[in-house]
Amino acid sequence: MTINEALRTAATVLEETSDTPRLDAELLMAEALGVSRSDLLLRHTGDVAPASFAALLERRRGHEPIAYILGHQEFFGLEFRVSPAVLIPRGDSEVVVEAALAARPDAGRVLDCGTGSGALLLTVLHRLPLAQGVGIDRSSEALAMAQGNAERLHLADRARMIAADWDQPDWIEPLGGAFDLILANPPYVEDAAPLAPSVHAHEPHGALFAGPEGLDAYRVLIPQLPALLTPGGVAVLEIGATQAEAVAAIAAEAGFAHRLHRDLGGRPRVVELSQQQ
Ligand code: GLN
Repeated sequence: MTINEALRTAATVLEETSDTPRLDAELLMAEALGVSRSDLLLRHTGDVAPASFAALLERRRGHEPIAYILGHQEFFGLEFRVSPAVLIPRGDSEVVVEAALAARPDAGRVLDCGTGSGALLLTVLHRLPLAQGVGIDRSSEALAMAQGNAERLHLADRARMIAADWDQPDWIEPLGGAFDLILANPPYVEDAAPLAPSVHAHEPHGALFAGPEGLDAYRVLIPQLPALLTPGGVAVLEIGATQAEAVAAIAAEAGFAHRLHRDLGGRPRVVELSQQQ
């Protein structure tokens, strides 16, 4: 079978699994051949399809996300290595980066709570060449991934990845002082929420689920932020589309004023918190 024929068959097979069956098929074929997708389409469509393609296609049919099969995902124009130990960086979270850069383009110290692949922290550091950053995570596998990403993006001299759990009383101590900008994409999915099989079966539940209302992480994290922010410091947190009011109430109780940032569909997906004067 030629590559072109194999792609056509695979795209049909993946219609049940994926919203982007043809794209997925092309990415998996490029991976099987060890070439880029554009090289695949420009140079190889008439070649014989490699045997290794079938195994990759089966994994995708089993709802494994493309990013885990390929081992990387693009976010805000940068390439991040990912594994099932970390949430796959999503377009949704680009709103966090945009809001953070707009709020504190002068930030000197940046903290990312629950850094996972490091995507939020490293993207912000990439855009702010003078800033220093700390990423914390409770998962040592995630920290190793974040550290590797920092090195590959030539940001390791400005990014420290630290094992810490914001549930623990002593987690603030090793961070070395307050921050001008705090980022977080905490878990915010309701425990009973129906998630797509590709998410539920493959992505780390600790990064997704946060109690019956999906608010547990905000309830623990937000009250600790005043002790972590410099005067004038800002925290930028991703939220679920229906959580703006509840998170704003938690923030008000901790003494924060808030601003909402919306995604392209007009849904509030980010709260920006600043201390009331
Ligand atoms: N946006 C993710 C999802 O709905 C959730 C991410 C999170 O909980 N931080 O799958």
